[in-house]
Amino acid sequence: MQQIRSVQQAEIDGIPAFTARGPARVTGALVFGVGVRDETYGTLGVTHLIEHLVMGSLPKSHLECNATVDVESTIFHATGRPESVAAFLAGVCAALSDLPTDRLDLEVGILQAENCTGSHPTAAALWAARFRLDGPGLAYAGGGVPEFLDEDAVRAHARRWFVRSNAALVWHGDVPEGLRLPLPAGSPPQRSVPRVRRQDGPEWLQGPAVGAGLLVTVPDGLDAATAVALDVLLERVRDVARHERGLSYHADLEIVDVAPDHRETALLVDAREGQEAEVARLVWEQFEALCASGPSAAEVAHAVDGFAEFAEGGGDEVVLADLVRAASCRVFGLRSRPAAESLAAWRTVEPRDVAAATRALRPSALLMVPEGVDPGPLEGVGRRYICNLVRELPQGTTFRPPLLARALHKAARLRLVVTDDLLAHEDCDGDGHVIPWGEVEAAVPAAQGDGVFVVGRNLCGIDVHEDVYGRRAVAAVRARLPQHVWVPAPRPVPEEGVLAGRP
Ligand SMILES: [Zn+2]
Repeated sequence: MQQIRSVQQAEIDGIPAFTARGPARVTGALVFGVGVRDETYGTLGVTHLIEHLVMGSLPKSHLECNATVDVESTIFHATGRPESVAAFLAGVCAALSDLPTDRLDLEVGILQAENCTGSHPTAAALWAARFRLDGPGLAYAGGGVPEFLDEDAVRAHARRWFVRSNAALVWHGDVPEGLRLPLPAGSPPQRSVPRVRRQDGPEWLQGPAVGAGLLVTVPDGLDAATAVALDVLLERVRDVARHERGLSYHADLEIVDVAPDHRETALLVDAREGQEAEVARLVWEQFEALCASGPSAAEVAHAVDGFAEFAEGGGDEVVLADLVRAASCRVFGLRSRPAAESLAAWRTVEPRDVAAATRALRPSALLMVPEGVDPGPLEGVGRRYICNLVRELPQGTTFRPPLLARALHKAARLRLVVTDDLLAHEDCDGDGHVIPWGEVEAAVPAAQGDGVFVVGRNLCGIDVHEDVYGRRAVAAVRARLPQHVWVPAPRPVPEEGVLAGRP
């Protein structure tokens, strides 16, 4: 019970501070409730850019420090002598208060060179399948570099999200007297809650995944039976896929807390090349087996023992994990509890509770495999497409590439349909994609020539260019696009995106 008491809560400069006694070399971190999910297609990468501007403005030192931006949070952290860590965090606050935008172009260039996608591709594809191009689903368009945003837009993002009311401090070790966190005041930013795509029972999809993945919706993140269920599933997949059959190297869980009563947990499993279908099938079979008969008592005991080894180990990492969890839950508006309390709850879980908890997850299950991979028939699992795929294009004004191009290249066998309600496109595979005008997320002007890439919140992407469909087609689309969806033209030629239909 010592660990429960060891987390102290205080306030420093209006920021909730979670502290605990600890080593002489302290760790300090500022956690902000902002990440990729709080961006839009038009501002993708802006949080990462702000993090770079801040870190790049700090004086060089030997301090062990870094910053991360993921789908739901941004964290600046350092480990070292208390005064040095305090100076680092004060520097972060000062830079966030008055963003050093003089190095904007330089940092954009660095981000382009980094070319980091930010999230696991399978997780991003699963979130997109759940939320489309909204909330965590934005990671699907991932690795964005906000090369076309102006300074005002970047500053506005910082002003909205990097404020006292959206921050929490983690401090492990003695707190120095002079610790100051001069962040700007500001009203607490409201996170939008992404809408969930409807589904009728478990579904499988192909997407830009690596290996295989399973996503389930967890209504109560503190429910012990559900936590044990996912831990047992992970362990089974590891045992069978890696140890028994040598199909994969690595499996892990990725968690996003979307709202207080809504967690999304993804099981991500890599696969040896060519084994993706078998790995996906194995994941699903193990999930179904847990639904049907639950785990053995030994499996539950093994899960509890594993957690106990961590939670009761008494190491600094447990305290730090408790501190970071408490701070994150505070900025996300979630309930939190220390590992020791969670462990006590895990100890009460029976195998039948795990079976019931797994069955409760089943209706929300989404199974992801890479493009072109077919897991074969899975009983009770429907096929679904990641974007708004249709068999037949609707009637409307039709545009096609020139006849000669169509005759010579299969890739030019395309069709564009424009109506007052929607934009539709038949790709060279004969698949149809439809974006209602009201569902346009962004319109990106072509870098060269007259054209526009239309991005749907339904994850369809339709490229309309004069070189392909002629000027009249571009004019017809432009005339119907709402003004607010236009994003500034990118400076260089845009990189290839993962959205279907993007050239
Ligand atoms: Zn589509």
